[in-house]
Amino acid sequence: MNFDVAIIGGGLAGLTCAIHLQQQGKQCVIINNGQAAIDFSSGSMDLLSRLTSGQKIEHFAEGLEALTQELPDHPYSLLGVEKTLKKATQFQHFAESLALGLCGSTTQNHQRVTPLGGITSTWLSPNSVPTMSDNQPFPHNKIAVLGIEGYLDFQPQMLAENLKLQPQFAHCEFSPAYIHIPELDQLRANGREFRSVHIAQLLEHKLAFHDLVQEIKQSAKNANAIFLPACFGLDNQQFFERLKQAVGIAIFELPTLPPSLLGIRQHKQLSQRFEQLGGMMLNGDRALKAEFNEQGVSKIYTQLHQENAITASHFVLASGGFFSNGLMSDFDHIFEPVFDADIIGYKKFEKNDRLSWTENRFSSPQPYQSAGVAINSQCQVRKAGQFVPNLYAVGNVIGGYNALQLGCGSGVSVVTALVVAEQICGR
Ligand SMILES: Cc1cc2nc3c(=O)[nH]c(=O)nc-3n(C[C@H](O)[C@H](O)[C@H](O)COP(=O)(O)OP(=O)(O)OC[C@H]3O[C@@H](n4cnc5c(N)ncnc54)[C@H](O)[C@@H]3O)c2cc1C
Repeated sequence: MNFDVAIIGGGLAGLTCAIHLQQQGKQCVIINNGQAAIDFSSGSMDLLSRLTSGQKIEHFAEGLEALTQELPDHPYSLLGVEKTLKKATQFQHFAESLALGLCGSTTQNHQRVTPLGGITSTWLSPNSVPTMSDNQPFPHNKIAVLGIEGYLDFQPQMLAENLKLQPQFAHCEFSPAYIHIPELDQLRANGREFRSVHIAQLLEHKLAFHDLVQEIKQSAKNANAIFLPACFGLDNQQFFERLKQAVGIAIFELPTLPPSLLGIRQHKQLSQRFEQLGGMMLNGDRALKAEFNEQGVSKIYTQLHQENAITASHFVLASGGFFSNGLMSDFDHIFEPVFDADIIGYKKFEKNDRLSWTENRFSSPQPYQSAGVAINSQCQVRKAGQFVPNLYAVGNVIGGYNALQLGCGSGVSVVTALVVAEQICGR
């Protein structure tokens, strides 16, 4: 099997890169082993929320300049501030073209409501979630927070109590309540089935739409805005939009505990676009090992194609971090399993020194979270001290930064993905 580009991993980074390559006429294959981080994410995408000192970022250009001083190995520092912002803007246009329904700007962060009623800064959010710009007051003042009876991943009372403490909601009255949907009883009988994905399937496909609208209207009473858990609409935002119109009140959805419908929708839309463009998706397969020649990587073998190797002119490693097995560890060694690429981290992190992987305080940023493969400013991967000309890394598999600490996970994924697509098309 021969392709222009073989991509390992079909999460946010792999798909963003693959769609752009496919749009430029490159024939791509994605080898993808399973669910990705985006299926568990809030649906909001962070570009840069904090520095390592904890200082919050308002304006990206200033924040990125400061980051470059703090963390020279961060992918944004390697690419430079100008290119990072250019690629972030390109992703926003791309998201618009895909109708992902995201709002936000590449100038500054906005604020979004978290599932527990906190406020956090982010770059892009689904336009169905409650957001504020410049810490302005939320534009509604009577808010019905409606849970679903028996659904424990969304607690309306706790959300309302916590939101009352936020200055942006100080002018609001909250009325927490539950919507009662008898059709959900069959799911309730098995607690493990009572998840946002299963609820969404039932509400969208098996429940009379009119009944759902009536139940929401009655529970909301005289509110001028409704907050619901994100359990409405599995494939895209269309079902949620239809519900909003029928209820006739401003409705917002909040991310729930994972799995997250807001992230799953984005993942589905990206996968569909890739396949519409003629890309090949090898789902349920796993890249195992690679062979090299003088040009770099020559072929890769996968679990389902152990005899018949995949050859390509370019290879993109988009396999994610520890969460997705893009990085692995044994007792005293952290490694990248497919290419055995060089691993870096920051501060005291040493890939072969287990004691350097963690901080004693559980809540401190953990050094192992900054582990990942070493790249250069073209996102080429380093192996045994040399950069491999036709092997690139994108997204969470890259080292030198801690996405959780800095709030930059999705931003790094899309920025590096677009840089690599441009590199490959230019060659
Ligand atoms: C639980 C969780 C929640 C998050 N929430 C947010 C959020 O709300 N906002 C935000 O901005 N960021 C969030 N992040 C950060 C997130 O990492 C990035 O946003 C981004 O989605 C990472 O994408 P990726 O494509 O690099 O990696 P991943 O999404 O991890 O995708 C890697 C894919 O590669 C596959 N794979 C791995 N190895 C192989 C192999 N050998 N062969 C074939 N396939 C392979 C995996 O199965 C997986 O599907 C979250 C991360 C996690 C883990």
